[in-house]
Amino acid sequence: MPEILSKDQLISIANEYGTPVYVYHAEKITEQYHKLQSAFNQSNTRFFYACKALTNINILKHIRSLGCNIDCSSINEVKLAVHAGFEKENILYTSNGIAFSEIEEAVSLGVNVNIDSLSNLEKFGAKYGHSYPVGIRLRPNIMAGGNLKISTGHEKSKFGIPIEQMDRILSLVEQYQLHIVGLHIHTGSEIKDVSVFMKVADIFFDLVPHFPELQFLDLGGGFKVPYKEEEAGTDVPLLGQKVGEVIQKLKDTYQRDFQAWFEPGKFIVSECGYFITQVNVLKQNGQISIAGVNSGFNHLIRPMFYDAYHRIENISNPSGTKQLYTVTGNICETDTFASDREFSEIREGDLLLFYNAGAYGFEMGSNYNSRFKPAQVLVSKGQAHLIGKRDVFEDLLRNQIEL
Ligand SMILES: *Cc1c(COP(=O)(O)O)cnc(C)c1O
Repeated sequence: MPEILSKDQLISIANEYGTPVYVYHAEKITEQYHKLQSAFNQSNTRFFYACKALTNINILKHIRSLGCNIDCSSINEVKLAVHAGFEKENILYTSNGIAFSEIEEAVSLGVNVNIDSLSNLEKFGAKYGHSYPVGIRLRPNIMAGGNLKISTGHEKSKFGIPIEQMDRILSLVEQYQLHIVGLHIHTGSEIKDVSVFMKVADIFFDLVPHFPELQFLDLGGGFKVPYKEEEAGTDVPLLGQKVGEVIQKLKDTYQRDFQAWFEPGKFIVSECGYFITQVNVLKQNGQISIAGVNSGFNHLIRPMFYDAYHRIENISNPSGTKQLYTVTGNICETDTFASDREFSEIREGDLLLFYNAGAYGFEMGSNYNSRFKPAQVLVSKGQAHLIGKRDVFEDLLRNQIEL
């Protein structure tokens, strides 16, 4: 039985903590991590949760308690990981476009680092030489992912060192005796096709002879999860099997062992999250009514920013007659959550439940329109815990200096 929260429990959380509210389900996170572990039991694979998806400290602590590692995109995320109790060897800082000072800070904390530019690689070599093991983030020129905004491996992408500059990389490695322990490629998000990961593995395969101290091949994150009911995600068991084969082939070819690393964000936390809003107003608009909820892209930006689809249900009137609605927010900006979709009859005051709200939901939220960021609740072992307070008016002025 997959881990899901009951509608009754979600309604009672909305009643207790108010709306809009994000609700996360700890056991669903556990289930997702166990899926990865069992799919990859053929290889010595390590998973680093890409925490930019959701950084609430209680979520990080729960993920740590599972034995999962953590991938960070900023030095502050590294510090949050340390705060959550992750050991330095289980923290990875995959940088992109950052100042060298952040890399120095990461080194002083003793965490794993992937470097993504020739200039930082050169500075790293000049300062640390062979003394600190490091990974290199490459850009493979592979187009993959849900849409252009979340594709990071193509030839116009800013991410990683273009693979055609391998000669420059190798001459820096030689000049500074860099201690290269890993190669990293993250091609994007929502990659359903296992063969994309296998293309990355092929690229790594040919590069191994250039890096005699190599220990891990980091294939990034980006596993697709189902957002629509009938949709399929990445075939994780198949990916696990293929990665096992590649690692074995590497072992046979080069007579030594390698680890595969992955950095899943969405896969671990997307489905654990629910977002509950309440309908403020209904407007009759010909055949399709508009249901305006007490939220907007200030709380969930994915539909407007990525054209993302979120499944939404009217949990207050599940057996009402089906009708078409467009669901919009309440900010002064076009903020459509769903267009011309069928819902059971929506009345003012009804609760609309958004699915897949764990990843890049609250985390990408803002106070735009001077609205409060929502409360966050974690359900663990059947108990609901408040893990993030809704803003109050003082929060809007907190960092402002009134002259
Ligand atoms: C964002 C990101 C991830 C996670 O992507 P998901 O689609 O959430 O799995 C992994 N690695 C890197 C380097 C990233 O930037």
